[in-house]
Amino acid sequence: MIEFKDIAKIYPGNQVAVEDVNLTFEEGEFICFIGTSGSGKTTCMRMINRMNEPSKGQILINGQDIQSMNPVELRRKIGYVIQQIGLLPHMTIYENVVMVPRLLKWNEEKMRATAEDLIQRVDLPLSYLDKYPSELSGGQQQRIGVIRALAADQKIILMDEPFGALDPITRDSLQKLIKRLQKELGKTIVFVSHDMDEALTLADKIVIMDKGHVIQFDSPENILKNPKSKYVRDLIGEEKINEAKTSFNTVETIMLKNPVSINQDKTTYEAIKLMREKRVDTLFITDQDQKLVGVVGMFDLSKMGRQVKPVREIMVKPEYIHRETKIKDAVRAIWQLDIRNMPVVDDENKLVGIVTRASVVDTIYTNLWGEEEDSQDNPEGEDHA
Ligand code: ADP
Ligand code: MG
Repeated sequence: MIEFKDIAKIYPGNQVAVEDVNLTFEEGEFICFIGTSGSGKTTCMRMINRMNEPSKGQILINGQDIQSMNPVELRRKIGYVIQQIGLLPHMTIYENVVMVPRLLKWNEEKMRATAEDLIQRVDLPLSYLDKYPSELSGGQQQRIGVIRALAADQKIILMDEPFGALDPITRDSLQKLIKRLQKELGKTIVFVSHDMDEALTLADKIVIMDKGHVIQFDSPENILKNPKSKYVRDLIGEEKINEAKTSFNTVETIMLKNPVSINQDKTTYEAIKLMREKRVDTLFITDQDQKLVGVVGMFDLSKMGRQVKPVREIMVKPEYIHRETKIKDAVRAIWQLDIRNMPVVDDENKLVGIVTRASVVDTIYTNLWGEEEDSQDNPEGEDHA
């Protein structure tokens, strides 16, 4: 666990690099610092291994003030990776991978075992350990670069825009790789980026910095749902925010209330009458507690002819969704089942609404193209200040 307690870094001339930083990172989390250039990301990150000393406040690692630790010892326990430095061409892949472990004076067997384990994790043959970088493709070399960063068995790894100089396709595949290895190996990674997409992809928690201050610290999902200011919205981009609204909101926000329903003891005659009156082709059937118990379609009723029966006897079990189901999951269900609508129930299985294909299309349309006036999704009103 890493804690920042009231951290500030102030350079001579009262130049504030960062201020009022309070953060807690849990073990095994992938943390991304994000913000515009000069916002204080690197400064914060480098304070974790004391490459940068705070002017104020404390940093604790597993409860221990790092100020009380020997900085050299501390740095041994924390990996540090800056912009993807290439592999050293005159050294084998093996020597490249175990560069830091060798500095830490590990014995040969342990280094060999580690290198073999890691190279297998990135799907390269063991024999590659004895090759030279020039014998590998560019992509393979990049993967070796990533495992080299993880080789020294350090629980915490700091990465300062490691993929900043790479083309988008390579960056994409290395992001997936680092994320997978981080989970597999249980590392805590503190990663600096200026690319919000990268942060949203990688992070468990994102620290958004602006002019030396933490503006928002939360999960990608919460940040997408509730960007705290115009600055955050701009970093994310309006398109992504709208996309997120569609996917993360619950069906409750788009369902139509008061779906047409009838008690299970009513007759098929009454059911048809009600359908005609309300101009619907499906009727939801409830029990005396308003709990959803079935559904009948116009077609089923018309097959009955003039026979009259309680609807209970001809209803079928309905597909339904819970009011807190995410819209994206509801959309998937409606499309997969190829149905026109779905009833929505609450915790007690009471019928509370209906989601129709049309209402889903409306939401998707609105979120993609916007409403005339989108003041409602701007609760703090900052944009219009
Ligand atoms: P980022 O990584 O977000 O681009 P930095 O953490 O590198 O930002 O820098 C934060 C602020 O601190 C910037 O305004 C920068 O100019 C300032 N700064 C960084 N290092 C020094 C220094 N050695 N002396 C004075 N100011 C510095
Ligand atoms: Mg930086």
